[in-house]
Amino acid sequence: MSKLQEKVFQGIGVSPGIAMGPVFILPQSEEYHPVERKITDSEVAEELRRFLDALAKTKEQIQVLRERTLSRLGVDHAGIFDAQLMILDDEQVIQDVREVVATEKKNVDAAFYQTVHRYLHLLYGSGNEYLAERRADITDVMNRVLENLGGIERSDVCKVPSPSIIIARDISPSDTARMERGKVLGFATDAGSQSSHTAIMAKALGIPAVVGLHQITMMVQGGDVLVIDGRRGTVTINPTKGALERGRAELRRIEAYRDQLSRFRDLPAETQDGRRITLSANIELPAEVPSVIESGSEGVGLYRTEFIYMNRSDLPSEEEQFEAYKTVLEGVNPHPVIIRTMDLGGDKFITNLNIPFEFNPSLGWRAIRFCLERRDIFEVQLRAILRAGVFGNLKLMYPMISCVKEVIKANTIVAEVKEELGREGIPHAEDFEIGVMIEVPSAALTVDILAKEVDFFSIGTNDLIQYTLAVDRVNDKIAHLYQPCHPAILRLVKRTVEEGHRNNIWVGICGEMAADPAMCLILLGMGLDEISASPAVVPGIKNVIRGLSYADAKEFIEEVMTYTSPAEIESRAREVVRTVVPELDVV
Ligand code: PEP
Ligand code: MG
Repeated sequence: MSKLQEKVFQGIGVSPGIAMGPVFILPQSEEYHPVERKITDSEVAEELRRFLDALAKTKEQIQVLRERTLSRLGVDHAGIFDAQLMILDDEQVIQDVREVVATEKKNVDAAFYQTVHRYLHLLYGSGNEYLAERRADITDVMNRVLENLGGIERSDVCKVPSPSIIIARDISPSDTARMERGKVLGFATDAGSQSSHTAIMAKALGIPAVVGLHQITMMVQGGDVLVIDGRRGTVTINPTKGALERGRAELRRIEAYRDQLSRFRDLPAETQDGRRITLSANIELPAEVPSVIESGSEGVGLYRTEFIYMNRSDLPSEEEQFEAYKTVLEGVNPHPVIIRTMDLGGDKFITNLNIPFEFNPSLGWRAIRFCLERRDIFEVQLRAILRAGVFGNLKLMYPMISCVKEVIKANTIVAEVKEELGREGIPHAEDFEIGVMIEVPSAALTVDILAKEVDFFSIGTNDLIQYTLAVDRVNDKIAHLYQPCHPAILRLVKRTVEEGHRNNIWVGICGEMAADPAMCLILLGMGLDEISASPAVVPGIKNVIRGLSYADAKEFIEEVMTYTSPAEIESRAREVVRTVVPELDVV
């Protein structure tokens, strides 16, 4: 009786869409523990041979996965498998396993399990959220190797018997990449956060997903029927007939809405009363240029160049960078491309730069702080950007600015690089706008000072929220405190726009807050000149802007700036935007 009772659980919606269907509970491979067996001296060599064979086989399997992901999702998503391949090549791990087998006389399955767990434990304790997230990759690789050593039944997203919704404690990024859309209708997990690779993969594949549900695996049983709402972040177990019917109706609405959006592609992002906003796209790689064009974006509002430095052991040369930047500038021309100088550090790090261990990497030696000290690396990037600048409409932007001195110093280096290129007779961009990210509270509070040194601001709400509210942006335990509509954030955004305009510079936004169509009302009302978000959400944002009135949005801001509750501001914004776009909560 209780089994058929409807229950609704709230988690974090990371990939929008509705999924309805029977549950498939994924056995948790992370819990696998190989049986330990004592071996004799004469067995040592044979155990080590088994180990090297298993590593080689695992490598082959991951290569295949990498190729498949590359063709399905592109180089950005395939990158996680490069990280997994690097783990398999780790000499230290191999050496440690050899030692355990030889000295402790254990079978290699147990020795490998023990060694990897020692590393996993170190990652837990490092205080680095990014490293902690990489545990999923390492566990994934470990399970594959153990499987290839023989005997374990791998929990497999490909073994979903018929179209189902997967429920699991956690799902690895590589398992997500293997999901087939027709078979996996959606998934929901106990663990997970917005910024995990798993979430990014689900979004790229268009599979509705809800994570961070804490105990959903304890609540479902085989035979249950589920409805997943990847936008609202809800999972309904055994929905009533009425709830199922509502789900079906929403699915039909989503499909009709997506059709409708494609008709706006070539129309401007202009409100009912004639206020025009520049709608641009955020990208990480040149391969995304076609989706920028396809989305109807009017340029690139944020090109995160740090990705060219990641998943590799050497530094990208000036030539390699030049080619990448040129591809984007040429592809998007005549629209502008805002190239952000590298923002390494924090949750995006590379190992070969010898950045010492830091307790608070998000507050550490990163982004512009790193570049101003490592001028050798910074200047190579600037030379490449300036050279590429002659092939399109370049704008340059610095990340993580926290005081005006950094801007002045960076501008001086840019001027020197320009001069150097001039002396060398190398063609380069002479006249282009330079702007800064407003993503640190000290920058937002001194925009009047910063405005004197730059041509534009772009508000990075991802970090601005993290730093202003003291809420780690990748920690799912405190995700409920990560509130874009917190009055502190709204005041800082409003102030940035007002001071920018007072100083005759334009102001954009490129943080994820802009990717939520409901937030358009707030951003429009605050007077932002440009909104930049992932190409996938650009058409939906344009649709909202075209349905709103600037005068009403300004009035709305007057009203909500007096509110004290972030939840109330957000729900008021949703309520108003829903009147122009009823599909708001599902698309
Ligand atoms: C931001 O902080 O809002 C931003 C856009 O930059 P990133 O997400 O790359 O830190
Ligand atoms: Mg940032």
